[in-house]
Amino acid sequence: MNATMFSRRRLIGAGAALGGLSLAGCASTGGPSIGRVVVVGGGFGGATAARYLRLWGGNVDVTLVERNPQFVSCPISNLVIGGHRQMADITRGYDGLRAAGVKVVQGEVTAIDAAARKVRLAGGTELPYDRLIVSPGIDFLLDQVGGLAPALDSGRVVHGWKAGPQTVALRRQLEAMPDGGVVAISIPKVPYRCPPGPYERACMIASYLKTAKPRSKLLVLDANPEIQSKKALFERAFAQHYKDLLEYRPNSELKEVDGRVAKLEFEDVRADVLNVVPPQRAADLARTAGLVNINNRWAGVNWLTMESTAVPGIHVLGDATFSAPMMPKSGHMANQHAKVAAAAVIQLLKGEPVNATPVMVNTCYSFVTARDVVHVASVHQYDAAEKTLKTVPGSGGVSAAANQIEGRYALSWAENIWADALAL
Ligand SMILES: Cc1cc2nc3c(=O)[nH]c(=O)nc-3n(C[C@H](O)[C@H](O)[C@H](O)COP(=O)(O)OP(=O)(O)OC[C@H]3O[C@@H](n4cnc5c(N)ncnc54)[C@H](O)[C@@H]3O)c2cc1C
Repeated sequence: MNATMFSRRRLIGAGAALGGLSLAGCASTGGPSIGRVVVVGGGFGGATAARYLRLWGGNVDVTLVERNPQFVSCPISNLVIGGHRQMADITRGYDGLRAAGVKVVQGEVTAIDAAARKVRLAGGTELPYDRLIVSPGIDFLLDQVGGLAPALDSGRVVHGWKAGPQTVALRRQLEAMPDGGVVAISIPKVPYRCPPGPYERACMIASYLKTAKPRSKLLVLDANPEIQSKKALFERAFAQHYKDLLEYRPNSELKEVDGRVAKLEFEDVRADVLNVVPPQRAADLARTAGLVNINNRWAGVNWLTMESTAVPGIHVLGDATFSAPMMPKSGHMANQHAKVAAAAVIQLLKGEPVNATPVMVNTCYSFVTARDVVHVASVHQYDAAEKTLKTVPGSGGVSAAANQIEGRYALSWAENIWADALAL
């Protein structure tokens, strides 16, 4: 046996003895890092991106910055408002991501210095990056509705469009309202986060009123000319289950809030509980970082990489983006954006080409009673000529009718997407 053969055999033997340990070390901490990625926002888009960068990149150094200590899901939050679930059911932690090798930092990102490639946190900490991913969600266009900002600040009016304390506040107001009271939901013009969400909320509030406060009324004041998603299915649910208490009013844009009076163009609506879903735009961080470049509201992206069309080196995901045609602002979609971005960022860090034909899918379930559910699904494929994602003809569709099997699917979908994003 010569020296070369001996040393090679010893090397293989040593590797076999270390077994999974050496491999695990390589995947999580060992080996030269191919780059530092900072992800801002630990919601549906950001958490998924952080997880998949680790899963697919192995030796990418990933830091996730999120202002909240826990992940609270908007999907299923309407069931909490209807009294069919508790906050604990929609709340999850970030320990799974930590175990997957993501550095999770609880903090507020106050500035992005794209030239120096670093983000600044409240308190002064700076995090350098090679690539930055932001999935900051939405903020509200409060100046479009007179009196709305102070009404929300005082707690008289709630939005419940970011799950957390607002979800609890709306539930408490419904519980405190006497039987015979009036609840009003105001829906803004599209585009807003989760097109079917307000109509699901109407069903969930109505289901509560029907059993607990049957003399009450629910007014659904929609700024749009008609129901924006799963129209026939929601119309059927309104008529079948909530005919005597729910009234749907299209073309009812909210102009002003005065106390608990919703002022529309031609009439005033007095409500005991006023739930205003405000008009929306990309979250503040996208704005201050100069990422908002479409209609003064949304961040434009290159759909092959999710890289901003305004600021190189920054990738934008989820609700903050200017949606491709027929693409909803949904948690499922943000999860898909995140996977395209994670794969592209790894390729870019390695100096290799990105996937030229990304495909994304979406399914949105809506509860119309505590058990019956309807869905809408779609498939979106990259069109190289138009440089956007377009729905695949004949793909997707909606439920034939509300049913309980989809009720089980909806709850499984939620558990699965939380597990997928948070490495649970
Ligand atoms: C009532 C309701 C029901 C819904 N139901 C469904 C459903 O059934 N299915 C579905 O697919 N979608 C649903 N959605 C939509 C879904 O919640 C959103 O589309 C999804 O959350 C978008 O993901 P995102 O990553 O863009 O934003 P988010 O999930 O909102 O995440 C953004 C995160 O960024 C953090 N953040 C923002 N700025 C900073 C900063 N400066 N520093 C640190 N952290 C920051 C926020 O705290 C937040 O955690 C629903 C929405 C609502 C309101």
